Amino acid sequence: MQAELKAIEQEALAKVAAVNDVKELQAIKVAYLGKKGSLTAVLRGMGKLSPEERPVVGEIANQVREAITKAIDDKNDVLENAALEEKLQEEAIDVTLPGRPVTVGGPHLLTKVIEEIEDLFIGMGYEVREGPEVETDYFNFEALNLPKDHPARDMQDSFYVTNELLLRTHTSPVQARTMREYKGEKPVKMICPGKVYRRDTDDATHSHQFTQIEGLYVDKDVKMSDLKGVLDIFAKKMFGEDRNIRLRPSFFPFTEPSVEMDISCKVCHGEGCSVCKGTGWIEILGAGMVHPNVLEMAGYDPKVYSGFAFGMGPERIAMLKYGINDIRQFYLNDSRFLKQFHQA
Ligand SMILES: [Zn+2]
Repeated sequence: MQAELKAIEQEALAKVAAVNDVKELQAIKVAYLGKKGSLTAVLRGMGKLSPEERPVVGEIANQVREAITKAIDDKNDVLENAALEEKLQEEAIDVTLPGRPVTVGGPHLLTKVIEEIEDLFIGMGYEVREGPEVETDYFNFEALNLPKDHPARDMQDSFYVTNELLLRTHTSPVQARTMREYKGEKPVKMICPGKVYRRDTDDATHSHQFTQIEGLYVDKDVKMSDLKGVLDIFAKKMFGEDRNIRLRPSFFPFTEPSVEMDISCKVCHGEGCSVCKGTGWIEILGAGMVHPNVLEMAGYDPKVYSGFAFGMGPERIAMLKYGINDIRQFYLNDSRFLKQFHQA
């Protein structure tokens, strides 16, 4: 019986040494150590042994079982490690390959300019308001002192949706809406940035869609000098402390008096050069004192309240500030153009 056990041990160890597959190894384990395995079969016969032989054979049987178990466990470790190693090799990342460049985006130049202007006016106590881009004829024109037969409506040919609805031609309706919301009871100090639409043929200086920022300040005792002070701060913060402004008389239906604001030319500082077409000044925006009719229509008593308004085009501001000569650049989405300003 001892010889039988030894034979089983040698046979099993030889098979384990030869095997190269975890499944086959498992089969060997079952064949020798399982319930119906050959070692188990031999041990079942121990009952027939004499009481003297039993402990001797029992000890040998245990040694054989341990030897086979250990051989199988060791082999199992070897096979699993080999499998893991193979998998790691297959999945290895070649760190020497050049990486793909990651393009980092940034805000559009117009967005940056608008945010810069917003920050500037928020710093002076203005709130930022928004309004609908599809606007009623009433808020877009009538509430701003432009009745239906007013000739100034021809100046801004519009995209009408219905007879009473149109794509707003300026951001001024937001002012009318805000004043109406405040019911003529409290001061208004706001700017409203947003998209506006006009039936223009696109060229280097015109676009059928562009942006505008309007500002409005209505309170008791607001004067023209307040307007000039605010515009002067705006011009210096936006274009440089060495720039001056001047106001020229102009006409807008919703302000009286109305002015155009120029800033001194960056190149010649007012002497006159080709950039400013010899005038020394560059036109920036329109402004004026809010027309009494506009105040009255919004529920503000023009004998008690007065105010100023201004409107500017962020495209024009950006073009002057960064030397861009074609407004269409803002809308072509050419990344070569746009990414120049990500760090600006
Ligand atoms: Zn100049």
